[in-house]
Amino acid sequence: MPELPEVETIVRDLRPHLVGRAIAKADLIRPSVLRFGQPDSFPFRLAGQQIRAVTRRGKFIHLRLSEGDDLVVHLGMTGSLTMASASTPRALHTHLVIDLDDRSQLRYRDPRRFGRVLLGTPAQLSRLGALPRLGPEPLARGFTESGVAESLRATSRQIKAALLDQAVVAGCGNIYADEACFLARIRPIRRGSSLTRAETTRLLLALPLVMREALRLRGSSFSDFRDGFGAKGEAHEALFVYGRGGLPCVRCGATLRQTRVGGRTTVYCQRCQR
Ligand SMILES: [Zn+2]
Repeated sequence: MPELPEVETIVRDLRPHLVGRAIAKADLIRPSVLRFGQPDSFPFRLAGQQIRAVTRRGKFIHLRLSEGDDLVVHLGMTGSLTMASASTPRALHTHLVIDLDDRSQLRYRDPRRFGRVLLGTPAQLSRLGALPRLGPEPLARGFTESGVAESLRATSRQIKAALLDQAVVAGCGNIYADEACFLARIRPIRRGSSLTRAETTRLLLALPLVMREALRLRGSSFSDFRDGFGAKGEAHEALFVYGRGGLPCVRCGATLRQTRVGGRTTVYCQRCQR
């Protein structure tokens, strides 16, 4: 599933190709992917609007449009949002195609359909609960002082489960939660309430660090993730623990332990994570 570094990679790829372009036509091939807004009026509402900005909040991609609408995309497990030329054949499971005024296309594809598309003004989207409440952004200035430390220490949940909660930290998922815990030398299965002040500080410094490194390597492509042009990232080759259960720890050589937290595979080193 694309997490913050993967979604941010896509946003940075798409931004220079989309900002300033006008939407010529929108083709909602599979109306059920639209979870907010009216499928019938969707093409008419988009046509003619100019894309003013492309931004990210948590794992959501926002296209700010000239008439005050936001076109929002969440990629779910297997979604992708890529630029294509109109003459490139459409891949299977392409659910939305947006034609731009320079004859390029923005295509949304999602084989497993856990992703979603929303269209509304920011006020509508927040007032009607279409978008979930999201916690602080790990890559934003002031993240470590943002109240995340208090949220983590206040919970009796396991640290990993709290990190996956989008209301606690926006954009964190399975991969970078494990990586941050490894870097901070903290066991992800511990209760949040057991964290000392020094440990929370380490964890909150580690999370942006692992995410920035993954962003530099253009995201992790274990299976489906593709950047804004359909290419794979390289960050999965540089991970310390995620996907390495049973293999030796890169720091101490002990065998990495694989378990499950809240139904999610979790990998850590029993020797150097306490
Ligand atoms: Zn170790």
